[in-house]
Amino acid sequence: MKKILKVFKFGGASLRDAERIRNVGNILKDYVADQLVIVVSAMGKVTDKMEKVVQAHADQTGDASALLEEVKQQHYQLCGELFEGPHEVYDLINDLFVEVEWILEEEPHENYDYMYDQMVSIGELVSSRIVHAYLNTIDLPSQWLDARDVILTDNIFREGWVQWEETEERAERTVKPMLEKNEFIVTQGFIASTSENFTTTLGREGSDYTAAIFSFCLDAESMTIWKDVPGVLTGDPRLFENVTKLDRLSYKEAIEMTYYGAKVIHPKTIKPLQNKNIPLYVKSFIDPTGDGTYISDEVDDTYPPMVAVEQDQALVMISTRDFSFVAEHHISYIFQLIAEFRLQVNMMQNTAISFVLCMNDIDDKVDRFAEKLQDQFKVLIDRELELITVRHYQQPLLETLKEGRMVLLEERIRKTVQMVVKKVPIMKRK
Ligand code: ADP
Ligand code: ASP
Ligand code: MG
Repeated sequence: MKKILKVFKFGGASLRDAERIRNVGNILKDYVADQLVIVVSAMGKVTDKMEKVVQAHADQTGDASALLEEVKQQHYQLCGELFEGPHEVYDLINDLFVEVEWILEEEPHENYDYMYDQMVSIGELVSSRIVHAYLNTIDLPSQWLDARDVILTDNIFREGWVQWEETEERAERTVKPMLEKNEFIVTQGFIASTSENFTTTLGREGSDYTAAIFSFCLDAESMTIWKDVPGVLTGDPRLFENVTKLDRLSYKEAIEMTYYGAKVIHPKTIKPLQNKNIPLYVKSFIDPTGDGTYISDEVDDTYPPMVAVEQDQALVMISTRDFSFVAEHHISYIFQLIAEFRLQVNMMQNTAISFVLCMNDIDDKVDRFAEKLQDQFKVLIDRELELITVRHYQQPLLETLKEGRMVLLEERIRKTVQMVVKKVPIMKRK
């Protein structure tokens, strides 16, 4: 009988240490009747640590090797806890670390983003080797798949754009024969490759997206992401009290909330799933028997208020220098630059002589964008702002959200309120 194909994604939190990896093994034991493609992220905070290695190498601070050694020892220690005695996984991991050590011996590459991807991708490669080896020791035979043999992107390092046709073709060629074996497949999230076989990454937190790419290309029956929360909640539990779990959610709600900062799912995840009507479950790896959240194409208008907060926002005010109206050709030029710098615009508004944009303030993109605009316009930037998005809002909630904050820009449409806010201390009378 043909098995049902499901794609599972385990993130860094679910693979943090040996105990958590054993927990993943226990979860998977309940799915032996299914065909699973298991996408794993780097363990715990390994990606953050690898980013520090890259930075240290780029700046030639002299401590890149020591920082890398820490990451290496962390993985060896974990293996010591998972495997008894010698195991081939040590050699496999060592080979991966040696490749990064070689990079550190050279001068830093002039293209930082290229260098970043070649080094940071090791986190997923190593974790997938360990998970794969571990599953085989607990009688869950699995095959290891290099995601770079399947997912092809353009040459934009650190935010590769998927080349869908080729990726689908490669999935057909590479993964379909592996599925015939009736064993689980373990692969990496976040990483992909260019047509010249250089490693690219899909953007931070991109492993959810990888799982959706595999789900799409393999026509999975469903996809599940395993998290440290019971499901999608009405707000980030790190920021809000009294949040409740949403049992069901439409693709539309999910894409709106994740685009505007609900960090529980990577925003790019929804489209491939929606396009093939593949349901997405968000479940807890701490309580795997819980129902989690079921995301599908259902239409339901009875949602409670939901809040998403996106930090690190910049409000860019672009004004004409000579008091001429902001006209179509100005806007067209501004948008051309937005596309060139791959900026994410979250809100915009125009007045007679100015155009205001709220955008994610990542790296130095906004500065470079502003610099280009300076020739023609006066540009003012306000930084360190928050974008608060409330779907299905209720007035009293909006008032609470504004406490201790100054609203710089606000927009209301039927079901959504968005506010760009700045934290201000609440004054109290002496
Ligand atoms: P992963 O281990 O897959 O990388 P993340 O830590 O990136 O997982 O994502 C899970 C976290 O997302 C939760 O611990 C929670 O703090 C946060 N989060 C933000 N918004 C929400 C929300 N609306 N519902 C649930 N969790 C949320
Ligand atoms: N490891 C990568 C990151 O931390 C990708 C992911 O976890 O989804 O960004
Ligand atoms: Mg994450």
